[in-house]
This record gives sequence, structure tokens and C-alpha cells, in this order.
Amino acid sequence: SRVLRIGLIPGDGIGREVIPAGRRILEALPSSLGLKFEFSDLHAGFETFEKTGAALPRRTVDVLRGECDGALFGAVSSPSKAVKGYSSPIVALRKELDLYANIRPVKSVRTDRTAIDLVIARENTEDLYVKEEKTFERPASEGGRYAEAIKRISERASTRIATIAGEIALRRQKIREAGSSGSSIHKQPLVTITHKSNVLSKTDGLFREAARAALSAPQFQGAVAVEEQIVDSMAYKLFRQPGAYDVIVAPNLYGDILSDAAAALVGSLGLVPSANVGEGFAIGEPCHGSAPDIEGKGIANPIATLRSTALMLEFLNEEEAAAKIYAAVDANLEEGKLLTPDLGGKATTEEVVADILKRL
Ligand code: NAD
Ligand code: MN
Repeated sequence: SRVLRIGLIPGDGIGREVIPAGRRILEALPSSLGLKFEFSDLHAGFETFEKTGAALPRRTVDVLRGECDGALFGAVSSPSKAVKGYSSPIVALRKELDLYANIRPVKSVRTDRTAIDLVIARENTEDLYVKEEKTFERPASEGGRYAEAIKRISERASTRIATIAGEIALRRQKIREAGSSGSSIHKQPLVTITHKSNVLSKTDGLFREAARAALSAPQFQGAVAVEEQIVDSMAYKLFRQPGAYDVIVAPNLYGDILSDAAAALVGSLGLVPSANVGEGFAIGEPCHGSAPDIEGKGIANPIATLRSTALMLEFLNEEEAAAKIYAAVDANLEEGKLLTPDLGGKATTEEVVADILKRL
């Protein structure tokens, strides 16, 4: 059997209430899958910063890099005012471990209404987020101060994000064919490349060209359909016809915006998972934050974390195990009897986890 070591980083707030659910579902997977899990409890976040002076202790990075196959990250609180020495541990982790892809699946609960079942693959290392900004002084008579930022797009980063998007499209079809992720609205794998190369012909033009080239590699030929869409019209169509999309690949900034917008289409943040993926490593992370308004009440929705756990397994090549988790979560949602308050129900975190474990 295969042994996977998973780092558990609950972080702050409800991160501590939902990450244990991820651990429990891994432990509850049927033994017929031939998987064993070992866990490393690791620290990061604002409370860790207040205690130790580091939001991301060195040991957390070292254990993840040296000993773990994957990890689950809960959420961290960011102080509302800048605190000296504090910076986001997840952003630092993405850099430390070169987690170049941010993957966010968005799926509607009931496929009889507006059916949505899409994944956004967002490039996670460059674009405007290289944060090379400058301000310039200029006399008011000439227009006053101004500022500039670098938008950096490389062939290498664009190629690898498009490649992972193609791989996700193929894998989604496999999981669909295994029949275990519920009904699907897609028949054929499709990747939509989004950009604004009609205006930004050099930067977005390069992204588009590299993505096109990556997706015409032999493993995708004839298996994955490829289309393009300019990002503003994509925002429009995402709201009018979200069912039209399977996998969307985007540079960092557009991907950030589109993925939050897409999450809004399915209601609660408590449902939406993500993964930060690099070469041979993946961190599952629910999209929500530390939710101080419901912290300690035992009512946080665990589903975003359970789906993030499945997503992490996908990138560790454990598709069958992932499909089992997705199916158990979908069954809970479709029945709709045991739901947390964010979905209009009365159930506790514990009751929802127990129901989903029972369905595994
Ligand atoms: P949030 O996601 O924590 O909460 C937004 C709203 O959604 C709240 O009403 C909350 O109760 C609800 N919600 C979120 N997750 C839920 C769940 N699993 N079940 C039920 N309801 C849920 O966003 P916020 O309030 O803007 O931020 C709170 C803190 O979290 C801030 O300190 C912020 O910086 C941080 N944050 C962290 C991350 C991250 O770690 N990736 C992301 C966003 C915000
Ligand atoms: Mn965002």
C-alpha cells in the first residue's frame, strides 16, 4: 500500500474547526484503495505570529518540503491594519514551494437549476502580482504624481499553467466516466484560454500563444477541445451561461477576479475548495477565510475543506480516492437534509462530517 504523509496547517479561526474534518475523511477512506496516511501537525497564521514572531515558522516549511507529500491549509486571519513583520503565510508558502498553479473548482449544488461545473486554473507566480510598482513625482501642471506596475508574462509559466489545465480537463473526464462524481453537464473536455491580447498584444499575446502551443501537445490532440475568450466578455458569459465552461486557464490577475466571481455563483464560500499545486506537491485550501463571526460555534461548513482534501488527492494521482470524497459530498448536498446554517440548514460541522463519512 502507498503511504502518504500529509501536513496539517489549521491556521486561525474556523481553520481549526474544518481541518480536522479533512484528516478524518482521509482516515475513513476504504482500505481497498490501498492508501495509508500519516500526519504532521504544523503551525502558521496570525496567532502563531503573535506567539513566535513568525507567521510561517521555518519548521513548517522544512517539514513540508522534507517529509510531506501534500498538505491541508485552513485559513489565516490578517490583521485589519498592517502589523510590522507580519505577512501572509500562504503567499510565502506558494513562493517557498514554487506552487505555481492555483486551482479552483466551482460546482453548483443542484444540477437542475443553473448547472455549473467548472475549474479555474490560475497562474500563480507572475503577471501584475510580481509587485514591481513605482510612483513618480511630477508637477501638478503636468498631471501630478503617477504610478506604474510591471505586468510580467513568461513563456515558461504560461506553458506550465496551460499544461496543467489540459491535464485537469482529461482527468475530470476520467472521474466523470468512473461515474462517481454525480451527474455531469460536460461531455467533452474543453479548455478555455482567457486573455486580453486584442489590447495587450505582447504580454497577453504571449500567454495566449504559449497556452495554445501547450494545449496542442500530443497528449491533448483530439482529446481536449481548446477555445479562447477575451476576459471581459468571459465575465459576461460566466454570469449568463456558466454551464458553457469546463476548464478555464488564466493569467494571475484575471484568474484571481474570475475565480472569486465564479465562487459567488454557487452561494456559500463554505463550499468552494482550492489547491496550490507545484511540481510533485499540492496544498488543499478552502477558499474562505477564518470567519471570526462564527468561530467557536461549531457551525462552520466543512465541505470546502473536504473538497480541498479530494483535490489535493487528485494532484497526488489518487483519483479514485478523490472521486469517492466528491461523491459522498455531492450525495449529502443533493439530499439537502443535513446542511450548515450558511446553506440554510441547522446542522453542526460535526453532524455534516458524520453524514459525509457515512456515505463514503
Ligand atoms: P471569510 O471567508 O472569513 O468570511 C466571509 C463570510 O463567509 C463570513 O460571514 C463567514 O461566516 C462566512 N463563511 C466563510 N467560511 C465559512 C464556512 N466554512 N462555513 C460557513 N460560513 C462561512 O472572509 P472575511 O470575513 O472577509 O475575513 C475574515 C478573516 O479571514 C480576515 O482576517 C481575512 O484576512 C482572512 N481571510 C483569509 C483567507 C485565507 O486564509 N485564504 C481568505 C480570506 C480571508
Ligand atoms: Mn482573490
